[in-house]
Amino acid sequence: MSRQDVKQSAAAPTGVAPARLSRAGLVAAGSVVLLEACWLVAALPGAALVSDLGGMLVAGWATLACIGVARRHPVPLRRFWTLLALTMGLAAIGRAIWTVQRLVGGDLPHTPVVGVVFTAGILTGTAALLSSPSAPRTAVGRARTLLDGVIVALALVPIGWVLVFRGIAAAELADPARTLGLLFPMFDLMQLTILVAVSGPARPMWRPMTVLAASLTLRVVADVVYVSLVVRADYTAGHPIDLCWPLSYLLIGLATRNPPPPDCDGTDDTAESPLPPWWRVALPYLPVGGAIIAVVLARRPTGQTPLLVFVTMMVLLAALALRQGLAANENLRLVARLRLLAYGDQLTGLPNRLLFNRRLRLALRDGRPVAVLLLDLDGFKQVNDRFGHATGDTLLTGLAARMHTAVNGDGTIARLGGDEFAVLVDGDRPVSPERLAERLLDALRPSDDEEDVGVHPSASIGIAEYGPQHASHTDLLRDADIAMYAAKAAGKSAYRTCTAALRESAVSRAELIADLRRAVDEDQLHLEFQPIVDLTTGAVRSAEALVRWRHPRLGMLPPAKFLPLAEETGLILPIDRWVIHEACRAAATWRGRVPEATVAVNIAAAHLRRPDLIATVTAATSAVGLAPRALTLELTESALIEGTEAVLERLHQLRELGIRIAIDDFGTGYSSLSYLHRIPATELKIDRSFVARLGTDDRAYATVEMVTRLAGAFDLAVVAEGVETERQHEAVTAIGCPRGQGYLYGRPDAPAMVGQNRS
Ligand code: C2E
Ligand code: MG
Ligand code: MG
Repeated sequence: MSRQDVKQSAAAPTGVAPARLSRAGLVAAGSVVLLEACWLVAALPGAALVSDLGGMLVAGWATLACIGVARRHPVPLRRFWTLLALTMGLAAIGRAIWTVQRLVGGDLPHTPVVGVVFTAGILTGTAALLSSPSAPRTAVGRARTLLDGVIVALALVPIGWVLVFRGIAAAELADPARTLGLLFPMFDLMQLTILVAVSGPARPMWRPMTVLAASLTLRVVADVVYVSLVVRADYTAGHPIDLCWPLSYLLIGLATRNPPPPDCDGTDDTAESPLPPWWRVALPYLPVGGAIIAVVLARRPTGQTPLLVFVTMMVLLAALALRQGLAANENLRLVARLRLLAYGDQLTGLPNRLLFNRRLRLALRDGRPVAVLLLDLDGFKQVNDRFGHATGDTLLTGLAARMHTAVNGDGTIARLGGDEFAVLVDGDRPVSPERLAERLLDALRPSDDEEDVGVHPSASIGIAEYGPQHASHTDLLRDADIAMYAAKAAGKSAYRTCTAALRESAVSRAELIADLRRAVDEDQLHLEFQPIVDLTTGAVRSAEALVRWRHPRLGMLPPAKFLPLAEETGLILPIDRWVIHEACRAAATWRGRVPEATVAVNIAAAHLRRPDLIATVTAATSAVGLAPRALTLELTESALIEGTEAVLERLHQLRELGIRIAIDDFGTGYSSLSYLHRIPATELKIDRSFVARLGTDDRAYATVEMVTRLAGAFDLAVVAEGVETERQHEAVTAIGCPRGQGYLYGRPDAPAMVGQNRS
C-alpha cells in the first residue's frame, strides 16, 4: 500500500461516515413524516399516539442534526446551531412529557410543566434567530430586533382576543397554563417577525434562514388552526393538522445540510448595508394599529376591557416606549457620525474646509477679532510622486498631528484639502498669529533622522488679520493666500503677514496678467533694435530685437516688468512667436539695403522645450524669404544647461537649417565649460557685468580676455555686451574682441542704424 492509500483509508472513517449517517437520518426522518401523514389522513386507529411519537422522533433527529452541524461549522455559527439544537431538544422533551401526561390524564395536557418546557423552547428559538449570521452585531441592534418581535406578538393578543378568544369561558382563561397554550401562534409570529427583521436586505438570504422561515410559517399555520379548533372544542389528538409540527422539525433538520455563509465570521465589512425597504421598518407597527382597533372592539357590553387585553396593552405601551428610546438613541449616534463625516477630514481627522468656513463666518458675524493662517506644504507633491500616495498620506497624517499639537488649542486647525491647512485664531487671542506661525514652523522642522531620510516638506504660512477692508470671509482668505505666496517667494519655511502693499501688488499682478493676455492680440507689443557693431570697421551689420509693451495705462514697459509673468503663465510662447516673426520681417527689409544684415532674437527657456520651435522659426523666415543664416537665436546659459537630450537634438536641427545660436549673458551661469563641447553654439555674448568693470577690476579684464581667446579656439563669434564708455570700448578693442553692443554705440531704438557706420 502506498503512502497515499494509507492517508486515504485513515481519512475515510472521519470524512465519509458522518455524511452517510446524516443521509440515512434524513431518509429515516422523512419516512416517519410520510408514515404519520398516511396514518393521520387515513384516520387509522391510534392516530394520537402515532402523531406524538412522530413529532418526538423527528424533533430528536433534528436535535442531533443541529448538534452535528454545530461541531462542523465555524465558531461564529456555533451558537446559532447550538441554540437551535436546544430548541429541537426541548421540543422533543416537551412532546414526550405531553404524550405521557395525555396518556395518563386523557385530556389535552396544557399543564405547567409542558408550558415551561415549550416556553423555554420559544426562548432558545428566539435567541437562535438573534444569533444568526445576518442578525445585528451590536447588543442594541439585537435588543431593537427583539423588541420589534415582542411588539408584534403583544399587538396580536387583542386582535386574537377579538377573533378567537372571545368565545372562551372566562374560567378557562383563569388557568395560566391553558392561556399560554392558546398564545402560541402569537409567539410564532413574534419569531417570524424577528426572522424577517434579521434577514439582512443586502446579500441574498442564507439558505437555512429561508428554510427556517418556511418551518416557522408552517408552525404559525399549525398553531392558529390548533387554537381555533381547541376553542371550538373540535380538536382531538391525532388530527391531520398535527402533521405540520414534525414537518416543521424536518425542515429545521434540512436546514443543517447547507454550507456556512461565506462571510459568517463578520470580517467582511466591505458590503455596505443598504437601507431596509419602508415596509420592513413599518412591519412591527402595522399590528399595533390593528391592536388599537381590537381594544375598542374587545370591550365587553358592560364597558369593561378584559384583563388580558388591558395588561397586554400596558406591556405593549412599555415595549413601544423602550423601542422609541432605542431608536432616538441610535438617531443621536447617527447624527453625530454624519456630522463627523460632513465636517471632518477623513485622512487626518481634523476639521475640513466646510467646518472651517462655517466657524470663520460665525466669528465674523459675531464681530470677533479673528486672524487666519494659511499653510501650504512646500515640496509635498514631490513626496507623493516619488514615494507614492500611501507614503504621502502617512506623512500628511503625521504632520497634521504635529501641527495640531503645536496649535495646542490656541486656534482651530483644519485641513482645507491636499497639502493646504488653515488655522483660525479667534476671540481674545491668547497668542499672536505670528507667534503661532513660528510654533507651526518649529513643529514641522524635521528631526535629525527625518533629515537623513530626506522626505520632509517644509511649510509656507500666510497670515491675514480681519479688518475693515474685508467684506466677507472670502476676502480674508484671499489675503491669507496672497501672504502665503509672498512667504513661498521668500523661500521655504517662512511666514508673511498680508499688508496693504502686498495686497496691492498682488492685485496689480493679477490685473497685469489679464492685460498681458490681450497684449499680443491687440497689437500692444513693440520691438526695439539695438545695434551690434563690428569693432574693427565700426560697421553695423546686425541688431538684437528687444521687446517692449506699450501698456494702455502704464505706458512703455521694459521686458523685466512683464516677461517673468509671461514665463509663469505660459504667455511667453505667443510673445516669442510674435517677436520672431517681426524680427525676421525687419531683417528682410534691411537686407534689401545691406545684403549681409542679420538679426538676433531672444528665446525663453520654455520655448526651447517646445518641439514646435523649429516650425515657428522656419515659418517666420520663409514667410519673408529670409535666409536662415541671417537669424541668431539667443539662449541663456541656464536655459541650455537645463536642457534635455531632446533640447540638444532640437539645437542641432536648428544648426542644420543654418540658424545661428548665441549663448547670451555668458559667464553668469554656474556652468562648467564642458557644455560648450556639446552645445552647437556659434556665438558667445559676454555678460555686461564683466564689461562694466573692465577699467576698474583686473579680474574682469582677465575674464573678458580669456573668453575672447576661448571663443577664438572654439571658432565662435564673440560680442561684448553693455559697452557704455569710451574706456570700455578701448579695453574690448585692445583685448581683440571682434564685436560690441551697448549704449555707447546705440540704445535700443528704431532699426535705422543697420547698414550705417559707427561715427
Ligand atoms: P539681453 O538679451 O541680455 O538684452 C540686453 C539687455 O541689455 C537689454 O535690456 C538692453 O537694453 C540692455 N543693454 C544694452 N546695452 C546696454 C548698456 O550699455 N548698458 C546697460 N545698462 N544695459 C544695456 P532689455 O531690453 O531691458 O532686455 C532685458 C532682457 O529681457 C534681455 O536681456 C533678454 O534676456 C530679455 N528679452 C528682451 N526681449 C526679449 C524677447 O523678445 N523675448 C525674450 N524671450 N526675452 C527678451
Ligand atoms: Mg539677448
Ligand atoms: Mg545679454
